[in-house]
Amino acid sequence: MLQQVNGHSSGLDAHGGEALREDLQEFLGQEAPLHLLDDLTKVNPVTLETVLRCLQARYMADTFYTNAGCTLVALNPFKPVPQLYSPELMREYHTAPQPQKLKPHIFTVGEQTYRNVKSLIEPVNQSIVVSGESGAGKTWTSRCLMKFYAVVAASPTSSESHKVAERIEQRILNSNPIMEAFGNACTLRNNNSSRFGKFIQLQLNRAHQMTGAAVQTYLLEKTRVACQASSERNFHIFYQICKGASADQRLQWHLPEGAAFSWLPNPDRTLEEDCFEVTREAMLHLGIDTPTQNNIFKVLAGLLHLGNMLFADSEDEAQPCQLMDSAKCSLRTSASLLCLPEDPLLETLRIRTIRAGRQQQVFRKPCSRAECDTRRDCLAKLVYARLFDWLVSVINSSICTDPNSWTSFIGLLDVYGFESFPDNSLEQLCINYANEKLQQHFVAHYLRAQQEEYAVEGLEWSFVSYQDNQTCLDLIEGSPISICSLINEECRLNRPSSAAQLRTRIESALAGNPCLGHDKLSREPSFIVVHYAGPVRYLTAGLVEKNKDPVPPELTRLLQQSQDPLLKVLFPTDPEEKAQEEPSGQSRAPVLTVVSKFKASLEQLLQVLHSTTPHYIRCIKPNSQGQAQTFLREEVLGQLEACGLVETIHISAAGFPIRVSHRNFVERYALLRRLRPRAAPGPQSPSPNEGRSEWSPHTEETTLQPLLQDILHTLPTLTGAAATP
Ligand code: ATP
Ligand code: MG
Repeated sequence: MLQQVNGHSSGLDAHGGEALREDLQEFLGQEAPLHLLDDLTKVNPVTLETVLRCLQARYMADTFYTNAGCTLVALNPFKPVPQLYSPELMREYHTAPQPQKLKPHIFTVGEQTYRNVKSLIEPVNQSIVVSGESGAGKTWTSRCLMKFYAVVAASPTSSESHKVAERIEQRILNSNPIMEAFGNACTLRNNNSSRFGKFIQLQLNRAHQMTGAAVQTYLLEKTRVACQASSERNFHIFYQICKGASADQRLQWHLPEGAAFSWLPNPDRTLEEDCFEVTREAMLHLGIDTPTQNNIFKVLAGLLHLGNMLFADSEDEAQPCQLMDSAKCSLRTSASLLCLPEDPLLETLRIRTIRAGRQQQVFRKPCSRAECDTRRDCLAKLVYARLFDWLVSVINSSICTDPNSWTSFIGLLDVYGFESFPDNSLEQLCINYANEKLQQHFVAHYLRAQQEEYAVEGLEWSFVSYQDNQTCLDLIEGSPISICSLINEECRLNRPSSAAQLRTRIESALAGNPCLGHDKLSREPSFIVVHYAGPVRYLTAGLVEKNKDPVPPELTRLLQQSQDPLLKVLFPTDPEEKAQEEPSGQSRAPVLTVVSKFKASLEQLLQVLHSTTPHYIRCIKPNSQGQAQTFLREEVLGQLEACGLVETIHISAAGFPIRVSHRNFVERYALLRRLRPRAAPGPQSPSPNEGRSEWSPHTEETTLQPLLQDILHTLPTLTGAAATP
């Protein structure tokens, strides 16, 4: 008996029967109901409108996954659907002879990648690129895939090694709550928004069991520590500490109940992510013991108090900025929690030291109020970013194994999707640049793969033209002149230049590139980049400063004086650095800009991706309110455009949409032979006992028509499902 589980039938035979019925309906020109179309390449014609209608019909029928040729589209259900992620369903996909014949699911992708690394003929490392806009479900999807591999790639239960493997799988899963506590925050678009990009490499041994993993992160949004947009929050961990600390800990960390912190907006909002216990437990599992944890939380409490150090303008010209009287207590508490001497802490925030002249003489310049605020925020960002990186390295040392113990890997990439706000800056430029690179990789890989496949089969084939985004990439990162190189040049020259000047430089140097545009109506200096996903306007104000991401050396020196064990690890005194800081020291090595660092890590990532067989999951958010059963066409449309889905479908549909091996074809359609006697005989009708010649393309459709109609009516009895009228 066929059982339907959220659009998922649990009987394998039934899937085959259903697929057969769909094929036959297509042949007969009967259109399957939209919600039954598992692959968007089958909508006819392929347009944004038809794709949208199909996705909407499926969403309303609680079917959240749809193939789009080589891509899987994942609609966020915005409601718990536990049966869709149960271990039983994982096993069903894992054990299916042909998982791609089952309903589209992330487990199909998971299983396909797993089988590919296991392939005896050509094992190739695999990667899954999960993309989509904020709140679309990327992190959820990545987490589910990690759970899938933890189940299917676990060691056999009987062996002794199982315990070790179980521990490593659990440890790998435990990295999620830690990274989410420290790297995720509640934003306007997602209560649990990842504020960093992540690539996790799941490593498999010769027996294809998961033996370890390695995590790489990208572009943590560290500004959030000191600056949160209205209605947004700081990183979850701060709320977890404030809500979850025991009475004793509150005393130690100076966090009395109800205390107000300017860097802790919206503290009354309770989220399920605010679970301190889960984070602590996961940290413990990964080898971060309780004293170290407490040290981390103490430092974070120190940052919260630092945020309450408010400055005010003063009349005194020699000291234009003073700490407000009401903030003196915060200074004391912050200094004590960070184990820093109180006076130097305040002085470092208030006085800038400048080295100038041949002798590198030191000048002291009191800061303005705005400068004091910037230095305070910078101190917090510096500590938080180093803490985050340190946590990632601790996680890595806990989950990674001896490089000789693994032979293949499956990589999961959870990156920010394409972003376009009314005002965009360096963050969006980096994110959209990454998305351009991934899109190029996707198109190149897919077309190459298709071409190779057809060549092997000896098929004649010419590719339709497709949108190549190389011109846009040339504009952003090309050599010798590009937007990145021009912004870097400004940082290197360190010349004072206005936002308008930067815009003019970009416009005149890159005028020939058709992907560069300008917004005549914009009141602020800006330029437009025509991305594959649409045009985005970037403001030039602040670009250079953000790209420099300057850290006054006094701040690092101050933190190096801390007596706190954790800060000592995060800010070691580097003898070389010290020598360079001496007035007689050699000039410093050039500091890498944000763009240069990002470009380098992106190139590294792409190198890894190029060495793998990639798979793509595009997550789509059906509405921005996070409501179940609500499909807002306009909102989805924007996302379909942004991920170039219609283009993907065109590319997929331009190839042969159905690939069936001869053996599978015979297995599947042998049914027709059995039913043959019921068909009307015709002069050219195939003989039931003849071999493959029956399937000659010359077989007349008129002959097959009644036969197929017949099968369509017989199918319900075969599969136990109701026939579609
Ligand atoms: P961001 O870019 O902001 O990090 P994201 O794409 O990673 O966003 P998620 O955090 O994965 O988005 O998903 C947002 C929320 O949507 C989740 O917290 C969860 O409530 C819900 N959600 C996502 N996918 C599913 C799913 N498959 N089933 C049920 N709920 C889901
Ligand atoms: Mg996320």
